[in-house]
Amino acid sequence: MTVPFVDLKSQYLGIKDQIDAAIEDVIMNTMFIGGKPVADFKEKFEKVYGTKHCIPVANGTDAIYIVLRMLGIGEGDEVITAANSWISTSETISQTGAKPVFVDVDEYYTIDVDQIESKITDKTKAIIPVHLTGQMADVEKVGELCSKYGLHMIEDTAQAHFSELKGKRAGTWGIAATFSFYPGKNLGAYGDAGCIITEDAALAEKCKMFANHGALKKHHHKMEGINSRLDGMQAAVLNVKLDHILDWTESRRQNAAYYTSQFEKAGISSVELPKLRPDSKHSYHLYIIKTEKRDELQAHLTEKGIGTAIHYPTPLPFMEAYSYLGHTEEEFPVCRKNQDEILSLPMYPELTKEQMDYVVETIDQFFNEA
Ligand SMILES: *Cc1c(COP(=O)(O)O)cnc(C)c1O
Repeated sequence: MTVPFVDLKSQYLGIKDQIDAAIEDVIMNTMFIGGKPVADFKEKFEKVYGTKHCIPVANGTDAIYIVLRMLGIGEGDEVITAANSWISTSETISQTGAKPVFVDVDEYYTIDVDQIESKITDKTKAIIPVHLTGQMADVEKVGELCSKYGLHMIEDTAQAHFSELKGKRAGTWGIAATFSFYPGKNLGAYGDAGCIITEDAALAEKCKMFANHGALKKHHHKMEGINSRLDGMQAAVLNVKLDHILDWTESRRQNAAYYTSQFEKAGISSVELPKLRPDSKHSYHLYIIKTEKRDELQAHLTEKGIGTAIHYPTPLPFMEAYSYLGHTEEEFPVCRKNQDEILSLPMYPELTKEQMDYVVETIDQFFNEA
């Protein structure tokens, strides 16, 4: 048996007729940029997600950059974010001219809210909690800090479509949230795609304008912007997938619960299972286990046909790109330790019980032989 780390093809085969028809429709009607599929996506995402304004953009990285810029963040400002994320979260902060300020993570792989306050200065303008793996950051506490110090909260929701904290969805807690629809994300296009959501009509309009060369009406450029449009083909794919996303999210939750129950049954003491933040709903973009024998286990799983990955091999402050900030490993002890121990197992809605059994058995066997 083989269990690939991601399996985008089996999902496609399940909805092939709808996807093929939707793509053909875009081509036949030459709606490559803008037009009905994109307008439909905007409306559908607002409805399914439960938000006032969705601004479709080219990818999840641009989404963050656009929000930061339209909130007026730039040179001389600081923005606080988690030390463990994909580089989009911090590179966009730098691209505005602001400085990324990193905070170590908690036991849920999300920003450690107890360490944020000590990083706030009179230059701080915003905090970007990242709902890494699909687990909600403690946005309630982040929100309290933002109110206290007059900061913006922007949620990086690239990995957490439909996650919830206290019954309220990821991305609906701050001034705006950003999503990625990169193919491997929980809601994935067939290329790059992303969006911004916000309840703030004025901010929504600014973001929309900036993402389209500073124009809301063709040839009426109120400012300079960038070219960050969602294309028609990606919108058409996403429109089909939006009909299934709630079921798929539920399947991810069931699969995670199954993994956890099988691991607990096997009683593998050397493996630490993912923890769920109280009062929250995880969307399991990733199912991460921890073990001191990570590298040996990963090699063993590869040999047995099981795909795994590491999210991420190098925490952001330790990257060469941020060497100029002069951070030390001692400043981020949780990230530093996780770096050597975390391992992401195959996780997607289409995963079968047999495949998950095989993953757990193979891991169990590894530790029994070790
Ligand atoms: C994927 C991802 C992004 C960026 O999304 P793209 O669509 O690839 O630009 C940003 N933040 C996080 C946490 C991500 O996982």
